[in-house]
Amino acid sequence: MSERKVRVRFAPSPTGALHIGGVRTALYNYLFARQHGGELIFRIEDTDSTRFVPGAEEYIIESFKWLGIHFDEGVSFGGNHGPYRQSERRDIYKKYVNQLLEEGKAYIAFDTPEELDAKRNEIANFQYDASTRSMMRNSLTLSKEEVEQMIADGKQYVVRFKIEPNEDVHVNDMIRGDVVINSTILDDKVLYKSADELPTYHLANIVDDHLMEVTHVIRGEEWLPSAPLHVLLYRAFGWADSMPAFAHLPLLLKPDGKGKLSKRDGDRLGFPVFPLEWHDPKTGEVSSGYRESGYLPEAVINFLALLGWNPGNDQEIMTMDEMIRLFDITKCSKAGAKFDYVKGMWFNREYILMKDNKELVPAFAKILQENGIQATEEQMEAVIGMMKMKKINFIKDLWPLCDFFFTAPTQFDKTDKFIKKNWNEQAAADMAELLQILEAQEDFSVEALKQTIDTWAETNGKKPWNPWRVVLVGAGKGPDMYELAAFLGKEETLKRMRTALELLK
Ligand code: GLU
Repeated sequence: MSERKVRVRFAPSPTGALHIGGVRTALYNYLFARQHGGELIFRIEDTDSTRFVPGAEEYIIESFKWLGIHFDEGVSFGGNHGPYRQSERRDIYKKYVNQLLEEGKAYIAFDTPEELDAKRNEIANFQYDASTRSMMRNSLTLSKEEVEQMIADGKQYVVRFKIEPNEDVHVNDMIRGDVVINSTILDDKVLYKSADELPTYHLANIVDDHLMEVTHVIRGEEWLPSAPLHVLLYRAFGWADSMPAFAHLPLLLKPDGKGKLSKRDGDRLGFPVFPLEWHDPKTGEVSSGYRESGYLPEAVINFLALLGWNPGNDQEIMTMDEMIRLFDITKCSKAGAKFDYVKGMWFNREYILMKDNKELVPAFAKILQENGIQATEEQMEAVIGMMKMKKINFIKDLWPLCDFFFTAPTQFDKTDKFIKKNWNEQAAADMAELLQILEAQEDFSVEALKQTIDTWAETNGKKPWNPWRVVLVGAGKGPDMYELAAFLGKEETLKRMRTALELLK
């Protein structure tokens, strides 16, 4: 068993946008697969047709493409364990349901919803299990002929798993250790419904994990209560020897207060809970996504990796390769992880700083375009280089900090604190003098400007930089003045100086 190749899967149900917690689950599966030289499968669990949402599958695939999480097999990726959409595997499940029925490990039940309701009213805390199944209408209480007749008459039925009571069921969890639950508390779960001829989640999940040779099941904590049932199903099928190891990941918690992270927390505090923007086809509601909000995928990945795991020291910035090397599923926390979205923004800032300026140009170009600005690649790259170390978390934060690179100030607010402090008759006279000096200046490189102006300032006891900022920027912001003038070039610099001297008279 130990020499089996590691195979893990991410198995979402296409019921809407992929929640950020699901992204973390997929990421941990990916890191685990990669570090073991194993394979990651993408399976679509769509046996509940009532919850199917069109577009969800495509959305999930696009999300992982953006995030850089690659699957080795599965829906849209190919592979030889398919089909990978559960709705296309009906015949397979039918065969395994019949196997359990034939071996007496499952039974057919005809109880209608009304009959079940009636029983619930009659018996407090009613559960369909070893203590009650003898009172119900099923293949254990009816004769073989009656059952066959009812099926022939087209009566709807379900197949239930026959759980033996009073047994301690052990779930071997890589994070939580040996989790023990007594089978008496479990009910005879429905495995199959004749109405839609489809298995339920539990049966399809186990059959597929087995047939797809899954070795480790890494999934959210919300599935832990189902795990004992899954262990019993593995055994009922005779697959105990190849049962996967489980890892139930800690919940993602609200950034503030207690409880599970929800979409409402995101709306309330202003952060996305989905990787990409999502347009709900039923309600028309649009929910924000990390991509559209200006996050770099690397930053989102790094942020998520540390929600429930850390490398054991205080290293926070890690490349995917480092994470693959350092990740340890057994060191994941059992306790929930607070979704510190402010930290997420910090990661984005760090990744913007680390990124090559050229790679940030497309995002910046989009922001400029929205503001009606045309600029060359070189100009954009230069501005990003001068400004990205300022207080920004997103590329869009650059715009208010750098609009003046692209548009000359046309108004000067004399009540503005910076202008008030730095503009007076002396400043105006100095700028008129500087204008003359610069008219004669041929070389507008940072070094040449610095040489000329520093020398002039020093020999004449001038401090021209703030007044110069007033005329070129119109406010107390921006980069080093020599860098700005070099960026603007001679013509634009002189033009701005002349206009400002006129307007500020
Ligand atoms: N289809 C389940 C989900 O939507 C998969 C749970 C599992 O990984 O077993 O999360």
